[in-house]
Amino acid sequence: MNRRPAIGRIKIHQTYTVEELALVTGCHKGTVRRWIAEGMRTIDDRRPSLVSGFEAKGFLSRRRAARKRPCAIGEFYCFRCREPRKPADGMVDCASVVGTSVNLQALCPACATVMHKRVSSDRLSAIERTCDVRRLGT
Ligand SMILES: [Zn+2]
Repeated sequence: MNRRPAIGRIKIHQTYTVEELALVTGCHKGTVRRWIAEGMRTIDDRRPSLVSGFEAKGFLSRRRAARKRPCAIGEFYCFRCREPRKPADGMVDCASVVGTSVNLQALCPACATVMHKRVSSDRLSAIERTCDVRRLGT
């Protein structure tokens, strides 16, 4: 099970045990314990651990925002690595032109998966400043 926590269901003025937080977010208890290990603060060191809704909501929102990784102009999103990557060796293939857009391909430097990106052709020159763009068939 790899569900996204239901952050909106956490009430900021309530305190939660690990079990309650698991229930309200729809996640496993082990997942909640991992959040605590990763830095979600408990109210004190006593057992059972209690987390304020305010802290839980803040922690999970910050974490979600940090995981949204926008690609810079010369980067492609690798679906296997799940992060933006610069093309291996700076090599980009211009696979096809569709109207005013170009479909680009590049290899992920970490896992060699083919990454795809569609850009408008007027942004191609910006990519060409950092990458070696090969125009296939032209
Ligand atoms: Zn990759």
